[in-house]
Amino acid sequence: MTKRLTQHLKPNHYAVHFILADDLASFESHSTIDATAQKETDVLELHAKDLDITTLTVTAGKTTIEVQEHSFNTAEDLLVIKLKQPLAKDSAVTIKTIATATVTPTMHGIYPAHYEEDGQKKTILSTQFESHHAREAFVCVDEPAAKATFDVSITGPSDLTYLSNMPVDSTDGSRTVFATSPVMSTYLLAFAVGDFAKLSKTTKRGVEVNTYSMPRTIDHTQFALDVAADCLDFFEEYFGVEYPLPKSDLVAIPEFAAGAMENWGLVTYRETAIINDPANTALSNKQYIAEVVCHELAHQWFGNLVTMQWWDDLWLNEGFASWAAALAVDALFPNWDVWAFFVAEDSSYALSEDALTNSHPIRVPVENPKDISEIFDAISYRKGASIIRMLNQYIGAANFQAGISKYLKEFAYGNATTDDLWNCLSTETDIDVAEFMKPWTEVMGFPAVSVTKSNANIVLAQEHFLLNSTRPKQNVTWPVPLLSNDSYKTGTAVFNSTSTQLPYNDNFLKINSGHSGFYRTNYSPKLQETLSQQIDRLPLVDRLGILDDAAELAVAGIKPTTEVLELLKNYANEDKSQVWSVIGSTIHSVRSTLLGEENEHLLKGLVEQLIEQKYNELGWEEAKGESENDQLVRPVVLALATRFDLFDARKQVESIYNSDTTAPNLRGLIYGHKAKYGDKDLYKIFWNNYLQEDLQEQKNRWARALTEFREPELIHQTIDAIQSEHVRLQDTISWAAGLMRNTKAQQAFWEWYKQNWVWIESNYSAGHIYSYFVAILGFFKDQSRIEEIKDFFADKNTDGIGRSIEQVIEKIEYKSAWKKRDSEAVKNWLTKQ
Ligand SMILES: [Zn+2]
Repeated sequence: MTKRLTQHLKPNHYAVHFILADDLASFESHSTIDATAQKETDVLELHAKDLDITTLTVTAGKTTIEVQEHSFNTAEDLLVIKLKQPLAKDSAVTIKTIATATVTPTMHGIYPAHYEEDGQKKTILSTQFESHHAREAFVCVDEPAAKATFDVSITGPSDLTYLSNMPVDSTDGSRTVFATSPVMSTYLLAFAVGDFAKLSKTTKRGVEVNTYSMPRTIDHTQFALDVAADCLDFFEEYFGVEYPLPKSDLVAIPEFAAGAMENWGLVTYRETAIINDPANTALSNKQYIAEVVCHELAHQWFGNLVTMQWWDDLWLNEGFASWAAALAVDALFPNWDVWAFFVAEDSSYALSEDALTNSHPIRVPVENPKDISEIFDAISYRKGASIIRMLNQYIGAANFQAGISKYLKEFAYGNATTDDLWNCLSTETDIDVAEFMKPWTEVMGFPAVSVTKSNANIVLAQEHFLLNSTRPKQNVTWPVPLLSNDSYKTGTAVFNSTSTQLPYNDNFLKINSGHSGFYRTNYSPKLQETLSQQIDRLPLVDRLGILDDAAELAVAGIKPTTEVLELLKNYANEDKSQVWSVIGSTIHSVRSTLLGEENEHLLKGLVEQLIEQKYNELGWEEAKGESENDQLVRPVVLALATRFDLFDARKQVESIYNSDTTAPNLRGLIYGHKAKYGDKDLYKIFWNNYLQEDLQEQKNRWARALTEFREPELIHQTIDAIQSEHVRLQDTISWAAGLMRNTKAQQAFWEWYKQNWVWIESNYSAGHIYSYFVAILGFFKDQSRIEEIKDFFADKNTDGIGRSIEQVIEKIEYKSAWKKRDSEAVKNWLTKQ
């Protein structure tokens, strides 16, 4: 087990001075740590990685303590200092180091983002210290529990803007000195340096909120700024705790490994997560911006003010922030029905990922922080958020809010564990929260609950749900909150045995009302038919949840897929975009996995029945003042019409492509369709459009389309582009995913992948993107690929991607089993329609 340095040495205060080279390509860091020895020792261990230590002194008060030698333990990123005499327990010690390092484009530690403005090459230098990258910038104790105060200062070129967690306190020549921070963890420390423009406003209570970006995009940060200010007001009220810092900055960084990072007071964002250009931004991207901004601001309390004790509670940080983001966005934009998006996207995705035997409990032991990049995944974020939503529903929103507020007050400026949170929540209710939550956090997976009618009763039974039915199931019983609709007003009724009976009520509609319970429901064919006849009467979330559950049960072989197709027929009158997105994805997975291109035409009749009404109602042009919901339904319906060559869809694509006014919401669909049938000349046009585009969101649309061409020569040009200077390191994974999605490009891309694995490994192995490079192999559907994947990784170092490889294999297994089982029956059913 990796040591926890905090047990030996507790830092109290840091003074860190960064001196940047004029070309921003290297830096010096002067770190002074005031610490307390936690035991008698003659060895001091600190974190340092890829730092060249030029000066090292240790003092106790005014006395210099002689250093016998210092050495590096590179396996554990340690600087080991051997003292000539031991320090007594509880003695104060000051460690001063000067280190030098070069800046590398790895998207962690201190790293550059290069861009051009008015023909001039420019650089933004910024930091990404989560999870364990502060040690690449300065000597420190780089653990979440090692909280200390920080005095940060930066010396560098005088024509740039300098930002850090705290406001600027003073400038001294070319040195910018920031105010002292409150006690905080090293992974949340940050700075950003560049030629930034700025927008500002204040919250109701007077906290300054600023957005920063390169000057050409600054006007388009207004939306994020407005959301941030309103969101801070919202969270101050919800948490009952004031935002702890004097300012809150949001900075756009053009090279970024994740979506955003919650550095305290200085949140950094990928451009697409903060730039909203009304003429070019799709509504779905605008909603994404709101969600990311609220997620990061939730962390300012939950994660930053109160921090996990250690990385094994990462899920709590991320799950809570993801849930709280939806809570805030729902309050700020009630018309968006954000909880329906949450169920359709977050919960649904988490349920799919957690239905693998190679999933993991959301609370996982982490020995070495190097192992955690793989758990920044759907289980930590989306299952975490889903079970928090379940708990909120189960103990009641008011109790939940009171418990959260108590937790934040009790552990402010400190560290806490999952159990601490359960204890705080338990004091607000009669329910033993820990007992209820443990099976959801400590055991992987979840149950499918079967519902059948037997005489006057409803019989419920639960069993571990796996997408691959040949894998061994766990013998676990989960406490399933029934969350039934009005006929079973059983708000807190929990079903925690393998089976139970309830009296049947004639008004019975469904259980898991609102789909906040983290489980799948399997209705008997008869009950399902009763439900489907009443689909129009059900609330939005239940309409989409029933279809989503049924579709997954079919993939797992618990239901025949033809039953799902029968169910689908009831959705022709559907009005809401969230349900349409589940309809679209259900058809897409039947098409791509069961039918393939040669048989997809068989779906034409069913799709036509489903979408005809909406197609005619919505058409191809956005009407002035139409609802946001309609703007989101249209791309789903039109994509289906175009894919299956229905009505005049393909003619419309041509005429719209030729006009300059295509709505941003439809561009992805139109470019993609054009590319699919496009030739060399069109490729050239798309490629030039890609090169010339400044707005990252629009650039991504051209990039995605470039991966959709189908001629071998053009596929090779796209593959060659991946490693070129024209594709940012943050974006290569999207190109790779696009090529894997394109069935005509898969084989060529796979060859490239195998030949260039060393390049992938050397650029990405320390960050989140690395495991995505494995996850995209899940686009393969044939059993034969499993051996190829196993063979390929057999002699590779799979640290940090081991679980991802097993997951991909399992996914290919269940997809090919689903195809073998159901594709003939589906073809027959479709032919008879
Ligand atoms: Zn987060």
